[in-house]
Amino acid sequence: MRRSNTFKLCPTKEQEQELFRRANACACMWNQLSYQRRQSFFNGQMDWNTDDAYHHYKKLIGSASAQQIIRKNNEAWKSFFALLKQKKARILPSHIHRIRPPGYWKDRRTGKRKLKYLVRCDNYCLSITKLTLPFKLKLKWKGSNKWRGKQGRLEISYDELTGQWYAFMPVEVEPPHQPQGTKKAYVDLGVKVPIMAMIDDTTQVFGYRANSILAEWWYWNYKLAKHESLLKTTNDAHTSKELRWLYRKRKRRFRDVINKVVNDFVVRCWSQGVSEIVLGELTNIRDSAQFSKKLNSMIHLFWSHRYLVTRIKEKAEEYGITVREIDEQGTSSVCPRCAAKRVVRKGRLFNCLRCRLEAHRDAVGCVNIRLAQGDHLAAGVINRAVARPSFLTIEV
Ligand SMILES: [Zn+2]
Repeated sequence: MRRSNTFKLCPTKEQEQELFRRANACACMWNQLSYQRRQSFFNGQMDWNTDDAYHHYKKLIGSASAQQIIRKNNEAWKSFFALLKQKKARILPSHIHRIRPPGYWKDRRTGKRKLKYLVRCDNYCLSITKLTLPFKLKLKWKGSNKWRGKQGRLEISYDELTGQWYAFMPVEVEPPHQPQGTKKAYVDLGVKVPIMAMIDDTTQVFGYRANSILAEWWYWNYKLAKHESLLKTTNDAHTSKELRWLYRKRKRRFRDVINKVVNDFVVRCWSQGVSEIVLGELTNIRDSAQFSKKLNSMIHLFWSHRYLVTRIKEKAEEYGITVREIDEQGTSSVCPRCAAKRVVRKGRLFNCLRCRLEAHRDAVGCVNIRLAQGDHLAAGVINRAVARPSFLTIEV
């Protein structure tokens, strides 16, 4: 599996100038390639030729880095064409809505170049205190070298907001843990309850409440809106450094909490002998009609569920657990006991109009996912499971 170590770089003034120079050249080269390829793509005839760019930029950044830029650009275009193919065959993953050809290394808000410097895997060396780059550039670094393994292409980038340089070092590693059993965990994802799960051989549904995340989400939204309107009225501007800070902070806080929830969940699954996690579709999100239309659209826009899914997959991989996504239509609107579709959902309550089952709404989804996977549960088990899900709290 692939993981990445992140370091903060501490260059001296001269070293920083050199980093600026190299990263700027890299960005120019990337943008030139992208421009040429985009133009030729829109004209209907792909121009893959990279000789001009290569010969021009190898003098500035070295031939190895120039090759890496070409390679990365090739990779971006290849995955773009692969997506186009999938779209044609109608097998595009449901979370992808728009496919765009690879763009430029440019910040859309500020119009400035995104400064990145690529270094080939065998062209750099990390020691305890220093990172040695081509042309004898030795930089001090900070951070933790968490993952050990075969190193990949190093990516150094400049963070405009903090004025810092960061290095991302991809590493190929073996999963540190192996599953301890062959059980499955059935998971329903949502907004108010990000993870709701049930594990084979148990009758208990458990989940994590997102009240604190939601509260904080609204808090940051409020702050953002206030700042945005202030910007507009006082400067007639749409963006500022502070605003970009706020956006970043909101994202970080959200990701932080999600990570804690996911960690706890995956470790819990692993310790109970789970080897496969079955993820249902995001039923609760589409059902989150309790929010107003505006808030609902905000959730769809910003509440990155893809992030949650990705994190579950990554964390599970570290424990040797596989993750399978299934598309179960309407798992939260069918009665798990009698399969009737005539149900009432009010607040957190779920009521079946045929068999009078009374359930906790969030628990219904994952019980249904388990049933859809061919597990037969006695009516008594279903009753117990959906009546009293247990909620775990995460310290944030
Ligand atoms: Zn029923």
